[in-house]
Amino acid sequence: MTVRVRLAPSPTGTLHLGTARTALFNWLFAKKEGGTFLLRIEDTDTERSKEEYIKNIYDGLKWLGINWDEHPIIQSERVNEHKKIIKTLIEKGFAYRCYVSESELDEMRETQKRNGLAPKYDNRHRNLTPEEESEFINAGREPVIRFKISDQELISWNDLIRGQMTWSGKDLGGDMVIARRAPANSIGDPLYNLVVVADDSVMKISHVIRGEDHLANTAKQILLYKALDLKVPVFAHTPLILNSEGKKLSKRDGVTSISEFKKMGYTSEAMANYMTLLGWSVPEGINERFKISEISEIFSFKKVNKSSAKFDWDKLNWLNSQVIHEMSDETILENLDPLFKENGWSLPSKEWGIHLVHLIGPSMIVINDGVEQAKPFFEEPELNNDGKYQLEINESKEILKFILEKLENLDAALFSKEEALDLINQAITNCQVKKGLVMKSIRAALFGTLSGPDLIQSWILLSRFCKDRPRISRFI
Ligand code: GLU
Repeated sequence: MTVRVRLAPSPTGTLHLGTARTALFNWLFAKKEGGTFLLRIEDTDTERSKEEYIKNIYDGLKWLGINWDEHPIIQSERVNEHKKIIKTLIEKGFAYRCYVSESELDEMRETQKRNGLAPKYDNRHRNLTPEEESEFINAGREPVIRFKISDQELISWNDLIRGQMTWSGKDLGGDMVIARRAPANSIGDPLYNLVVVADDSVMKISHVIRGEDHLANTAKQILLYKALDLKVPVFAHTPLILNSEGKKLSKRDGVTSISEFKKMGYTSEAMANYMTLLGWSVPEGINERFKISEISEIFSFKKVNKSSAKFDWDKLNWLNSQVIHEMSDETILENLDPLFKENGWSLPSKEWGIHLVHLIGPSMIVINDGVEQAKPFFEEPELNNDGKYQLEINESKEILKFILEKLENLDAALFSKEEALDLINQAITNCQVKKGLVMKSIRAALFGTLSGPDLIQSWILLSRFCKDRPRISRFI
């Protein structure tokens, strides 16, 4: 079978982690099978769909390395085709106009609730006579169009992830609305289940891979395929992504969209790697740190879990730090430099930048950590309590005074490790103090704190940026 899969995002928000993970599973499956991965923008909700979200979805997928094969299909451009299909369904007796008003529907649901029943349309307008219809029209009522779903129907499919699935027609909420309210002589806006079937079939989609929140939709869509005499695709329903409390990951969990992860400093490689692990178990002998292009050959739905996947920040952080550690200093600098510029910081030279990255890189978990860590090299830091305490010690002032005097005879731009060590040793002898006190005094004066990366290297960087002498002179 020629494999053709698709991602069908609704541009009513930014690219969500769950949608991106669905995209990834589709993409991996297409690569594995030598198939085609397509994109369809489901923008029929004209009020909530936005051009900026379409761009965010395209950008997010590209950033993750998920490329699509053909020009994306824009669902709203096919509305006339969708309406034609609805017309056919009416003509063949599979669908009908339903004039029940919203208040009547509310009343119906209230009664059902009172009787402990699940809300369900009771199909009361399924068999209206032409006279009854005329009465409703004359009373100014506008109908929706409903597709008939028989309570007796049993819908089955063999899900690539969940195995044999069976759904009963009686659990699908009664006859399903496939077009919004509109005057009876027209067809209103076609709705999700109908348009998905129409588009998947026209796009010759062989496998529909999407979240398990669509299981009931799949049952309804299979009925539509059958009514329209169309080939039913193979289905695979991926597990949901839950937060640490076991609830569906939502906006309330803070970051959920790919662009937000990017903004926080996660790399595309770690994100794609991590998202693949959300639901897919790595076969034995394969490391969990991989590039998606490397694992497409071994990807299979057999290893996708039925149970939900828990979002695990620790694992994502671990993967991201792995990716950063594998990067060259130059690449890390390329990622950091735009963020430095946003803060108004410019590098004295590229070589200096690489030296800085070499120093702070090992402790970076996300790219943005580099900004926090680089800050004291660009901006004069405030003294924290430890730093203040250190600089109040008399010997500290004496040490700094001695060092500053000596620095005046040294070239700031060429300041070296040997010179720094020599200065420290001289201060120990001259001021009759321990090495620790000298080191702490220098660090407190230069960085306002007693912790940080290697002091000698940090000092060399500050000196080459001509920032060490002014900082020391503040405290003597
Ligand atoms: N637009 C739907 C969604 O974003 C697509 C579901 C599907 O793949 O059929 O959930």
